[in-house]
Amino acid sequence: MAGKAIRRSPWINHFNPGGCNGCAIEILATLTPRYDVERLGIVLKGSPRHADILVVSGYANRMNETRLKRIYEQMSDPKIVVAIGRCALGEGRLAKSYVLCKRVEEIIPVDVFVAGCPPTPEAIIEGIRRALEVYKNGSKKG
Ligand code: SF4
Repeated sequence: MAGKAIRRSPWINHFNPGGCNGCAIEILATLTPRYDVERLGIVLKGSPRHADILVVSGYANRMNETRLKRIYEQMSDPKIVVAIGRCALGEGRLAKSYVLCKRVEEIIPVDVFVAGCPPTPEAIIEGIRRALEVYKNGSKKG
């Protein structure tokens, strides 16, 4: 039952640990009526406890590594993580920053990467669609 709900209406929680905010702005643009992602069942949720998909933009730093881990642990299974933008890969214009801690995938498991600096809303929507493919392919079970 839970699996069907995720496939038809994935609820997402967004965490922006760092970066220039370019990716965060594109994620917010994705959620505006212009792209109308609610027609695809995609809904932004304020609490990770209510979300199926964690969307992470930006790079992880020493200040927020623990918080990112805690948010991931608060989500119920099956939880899918989509990392948005080059910073989440530990690359990009901020990669040499002294506060850069680790790539997001070194802290929590990442299922889908969306390339770009920043990626477009269309690419972000495609990333969420690929996240649902991960679930459908059976690598994540509820
Ligand atoms: S990937 Fe680019 S746009 Fe996104 S947070 Fe990093 S520097 Fe900004």
